[in-house]
Amino acid sequence: MGKKFKKLFSNLCCSYCKNDINRDAFTVVRKEKGANVVRMVCPKCGKDFGLGILKIHEGVGQPHEPLEIVQGAEPITLDEVLDVHKYLHGLD
Ligand SMILES: [Zn+2]
Repeated sequence: MGKKFKKLFSNLCCSYCKNDINRDAFTVVRKEKGANVVRMVCPKCGKDFGLGILKIHEGVGQPHEPLEIVQGAEPITLDEVLDVHKYLHGLD
């Protein structure tokens, strides 16, 4: 997934400190089939951009889906992350 990350985020930078966004900024919160729930935190200034859905399309000839970053106005608390865990677990 490293190459895809590099390609996806080659033009992105942190809106606060302008640090380049790379794979180090992402923590996989949950892995799903074809998609990962990731948390994006700037590795330089620590700005928390919240959770996003990273869709992974494997195979040749499939269109690349753009990354969806869900940016909330308020920082996400641990309780909210746990709620997301519970919610996602309920989808199984
Ligand atoms: Zn930053």
